[in-house]
Amino acid sequence: MTVSEEKFTRQTLSEVRVWSPSLFSLRCSRDPGFRFRAGQFARLGVRKADGSVVWRAYSMVSAPHDEFLEFFSIVVPGGEFTSELSRLKAGDSLLVDKQAFGFLTLERFATGRDLWLLASGTGLAPFLSLLQDFEAWQRFERIVLIYSARTASELAYQPMIHGLSQLEHLADYADKLTYLPLVTREHAPGCLHGRITTLLQSGELERAAGLALEPEHSRLMLCGNPQMIEDTRTLLKQRDLQLSLTRRPGQVAVENYW
Ligand SMILES: Cc1cc2nc3c(=O)[nH]c(=O)nc-3n(C[C@H](O)[C@H](O)[C@H](O)COP(=O)(O)OP(=O)(O)OC[C@H]3O[C@@H](n4cnc5c(N)ncnc54)[C@H](O)[C@@H]3O)c2cc1C
Repeated sequence: MTVSEEKFTRQTLSEVRVWSPSLFSLRCSRDPGFRFRAGQFARLGVRKADGSVVWRAYSMVSAPHDEFLEFFSIVVPGGEFTSELSRLKAGDSLLVDKQAFGFLTLERFATGRDLWLLASGTGLAPFLSLLQDFEAWQRFERIVLIYSARTASELAYQPMIHGLSQLEHLADYADKLTYLPLVTREHAPGCLHGRITTLLQSGELERAAGLALEPEHSRLMLCGNPQMIEDTRTLLKQRDLQLSLTRRPGQVAVENYW
């Protein structure tokens, strides 16, 4: 083993799931030594035909207690990493950095009553990990998951989201979760229509959740498209909902995907 190889482990893919032409999920084995908190990300590596390895950050979809790792990915046309990743199939290898990273975790908030999770596209991934974990359900009275995609066919993981309340360890907390799917490019039954920012500004998100955003009670996590995150943060600031920092605890935590 070379020195550089010691920084990662080689895992084996057990399952590839295609959600749409541009979205898929991968499940792979997990090194018993790989530890993470719900909301964190791993660095994944794929070997290209020329032998070089490309690395990218990927949030874990799977829960910290799962024996496997799962990731949810976009296919970027011509993307250096996703062109390779989307070609992998069960039995192929995936390199996983030994260390997990990231601060989109519940540790960011010492207090709070309502947890708002706002995702665009694959930014859903860390919230699926959080929602399969016990802590969020135990700590918060209400959890609102807002998941935005372009079309209803690009809303992935619907059976898992709708099935969360049936998980044995979460059954007592089932009525805490409000799920608001949102599509931007079409009208779809059961989904809100429009951008997160538009619906936030008009008050429709709070109306649909039956819950107000308030500095005292609300804690928000935003993940995915950096423009969505920046625009949403601007609106939240106007409502006195601030980024949570170590030196100044606040209400908002974010993870930009690019
Ligand atoms: C902390 C962190 C966690 C991440 N977690 C995930 C994850 O769980 N799933 C995931 O699919 N990606 C995730 N990403 C993005 C991922 O690391 C890569 O950017 C993505 O795999 C594309 O790689 P690429 O080489 O094919 O294209 P790149 O050259 O890396 O990106 C090209 C362009 O594609 C667009 N793009 C990149 N990622 C996305 C995306 N996720 N959705 C829509 N457009 C995108 C951007 O416009 C970007 O400039 C994460 C990024 C960060 C920083």
